[in-house]
Amino acid sequence: MSKGTIICIDDDRLILSSLRYQLQRIIKSTYEIEVAESGGEALELFSELEADQISIPLVICDQNLPDMGGDSLLSYLQIQYPKTRKILLTGDANLEAVIHAINAANLYRYIAKPWDETDLGLTVKAALQSYLQDEQLLDQNRTLRAVNAQLHAQMNERQSMQQKLQDSEQRLESILNSLDDVVWSAAVDGFQLLYLNPAAEKVHGYAVTSFLNNPDLWSEVVHPADRHQVLHFFEHLLAAGHLSIEYRILRPDGEIRWLKNRGHVITDVQEIPIRLDGIIYDITEQKRAQAQLLYDAFHDELTGLPNRNLLMERISQSLKRQCRVPNYQFALLFIDLDRFKIINDSLGHTVGDQLLVAIANLLEHCVRSADTVARLGGDEFTILLDGTQGIEDATQVAERILETLTSPFQVGDHSVFTGASIGITSSHEQYTDATLLLRDADIAMYRAKALGKGCFVIFSPEMHAQTLSLLQLERDLRSAVDRQELVLYYQPIIALKAGQLTDVEVLVRWQHPERGLVMPSEFIPIAEDTGLIIEIGKWVLQEACIQLRYLQQQFPSASTLRVSVNLASEQLQEPNFIHDVDQILTQSGLDGSYLKLELTESMLMAHEEKHITTLRQLRDRKIQISLDDFGTGYSSLSYLYRFPLDTLKIDRSFVSRMMANPKDTEIVNTIISLARTLNMNVIAEGIETEAEATHLIHLGCEYGQGYLFSPPVNRQQLEEYLTANQQWFEPPQAPDASPLSTPPPITRSMP
Ligand code: C2E
Ligand code: MG
Ligand code: MG
Repeated sequence: MSKGTIICIDDDRLILSSLRYQLQRIIKSTYEIEVAESGGEALELFSELEADQISIPLVICDQNLPDMGGDSLLSYLQIQYPKTRKILLTGDANLEAVIHAINAANLYRYIAKPWDETDLGLTVKAALQSYLQDEQLLDQNRTLRAVNAQLHAQMNERQSMQQKLQDSEQRLESILNSLDDVVWSAAVDGFQLLYLNPAAEKVHGYAVTSFLNNPDLWSEVVHPADRHQVLHFFEHLLAAGHLSIEYRILRPDGEIRWLKNRGHVITDVQEIPIRLDGIIYDITEQKRAQAQLLYDAFHDELTGLPNRNLLMERISQSLKRQCRVPNYQFALLFIDLDRFKIINDSLGHTVGDQLLVAIANLLEHCVRSADTVARLGGDEFTILLDGTQGIEDATQVAERILETLTSPFQVGDHSVFTGASIGITSSHEQYTDATLLLRDADIAMYRAKALGKGCFVIFSPEMHAQTLSLLQLERDLRSAVDRQELVLYYQPIIALKAGQLTDVEVLVRWQHPERGLVMPSEFIPIAEDTGLIIEIGKWVLQEACIQLRYLQQQFPSASTLRVSVNLASEQLQEPNFIHDVDQILTQSGLDGSYLKLELTESMLMAHEEKHITTLRQLRDRKIQISLDDFGTGYSSLSYLYRFPLDTLKIDRSFVSRMMANPKDTEIVNTIISLARTLNMNVIAEGIETEAEATHLIHLGCEYGQGYLFSPPVNRQQLEEYLTANQQWFEPPQAPDASPLSTPPPITRSMP
């Protein structure tokens, strides 16, 4: 293959051909030979060869060319092709041109014409050789530079990798240093600690170096109760591959903290363990939160007492013990506060809550620490008495509680009285389920309430049957209105001095298909508990107004007769109450001035503002308001001034005791004076004897009601009264006039 092209330039074709001929002999076929006859032709040839990327190791150029001097051409070529070896041919040893060419064209040699062929051969070979050496040198240089660049690049890469490694190590260290969790490494053989981050000191309260220097410190810091877990942790971890344990530590400052240690085994490619690594988290807060949740699940938030869940758990435990331990007994007290709802509604929930807390404390003081005082919710508490000797243990506790409750509680600015009704049940082989014990204690508590509150009752199996029958009664009551089983009875109210009938109080009864006539005391409380009272009360009011309107029209003696209807608290709070009253008055055609509504003191205690508004609305309709059972309620009389009331009904307990007890006479007297001051009427309830009636007239009481005149009677009997239009009572003319004149014949038989 050709190593390049030699260019010969001369305007003499003969010289050119002899030159080509001689050169071919010198160089054989190693190089191509091209010729040009002028400078221009030569330059063209150069650029063609260059374009074809053919190297030009040598140019032999005559000095005398038709278009330029050989020295000038070579000088020009030197700029473009510096590597090409340049030889000048001179005919007449033109020294000036040679010197110019040596300087400007880096001339390799000049040859004088005519030349000696051997000389030409040596010169050409030497020139080519020199060119080749240059080329080789250049090549080597190029290779060297490439290697150099590669080395440089490798070095740069290594440096940047080192930097990265250093950065990431720093990062890792700063992370490990800033962690709150403890990071540790231990050796596989002997489990010596190799590394601990600074968090170890924060968590344990001992310096990292203390742990690294004293291998036993690791387990010494652990709470003695949990130490067994930690002692063999590393062995177990190594066997399992990964392991997590929770334990407590005792810090030098005495604080106990919960830790979770999660370790895993690091292995090499052959899965041979090389290290143990792990993280220790401080889980104290988490444990605290868990404990709090657990506590909350079993305790009442307000009082901190065990709640129903915990109580049931404890009863279950007692039941189990009963099976195991011979003669083991226990008892359950179900305590419900009397009048708590009234206190809560009238004094506010804050006072109610404070009272419950105070009661909780009191109950805890009434029992031993082994007993469980629990709050079921609202105003319901229970006491589980553990290991009792007999029922007396339970009744003693109940008596103690009732006794303590006779003193008032100071709650904030208020002095509050509250009683309690207590149901007791004691352990029995027939009890297998905690809920049954609670149910029976509850039943007994209800019985205590029914017996007038403020007492305790021991459960007996008949009570259960009675409760079931009560449930049945409740079920029946739901349909009583629809089935028209409710009937109205009427009890006359007499103007004492005139002995004339002025009002009738409407008292509801339930004509039960199987039980016969059921009295309101038996079903009104059920109706109130179940909300049925709204429907029943509305029916009573409607029926009373319709009946009275009819009587007014039918009987001349009834033309100004008024009807008095008892209201339940729930009715007064009903948003539609006034609307219903309006509707009933319109439908019945009764004028509001013939209707009286009876409320009790306790109904007015709560929601005072709202009730004042309602009572004013009633007064706008000329409806009058009586305060029933007056004197049995609350000592604060200030509300009497605030409410628009018309009549006070003295409770029959005062009337019945009045003759025997001067204190009761005093009370009755005070009530009458109070009513006079407030411009209100007074009705004495429950007058059973003439002596009572006479005494009441003497005290200034205007109206009376009671068996002396008539028990509540049915519609037919009332009509008979109205037809007879009798004189009901003839008061003695003077206080000392005795015996009293004979009263008119009156019906004394109870309906
Ligand atoms: P109250 O409103 O205080 O009614 C007076 C109660 O005393 C009546 O009992 C009546 O029979 C009784 N009584 C009347 N005179 C005498 C007497 O001389 N001696 C004795 N020992 N008792 C006498 P009753 O009818 O059993 O009603 C009991 C309570 O039931 C009523 O007391 C009232 O609070 C309630 N009640 C009755 N009917 C209704 C009603 O329609 N709605 C509401 N919400 N409650 C009613
Ligand atoms: Mg009444
Ligand atoms: Mg009454």
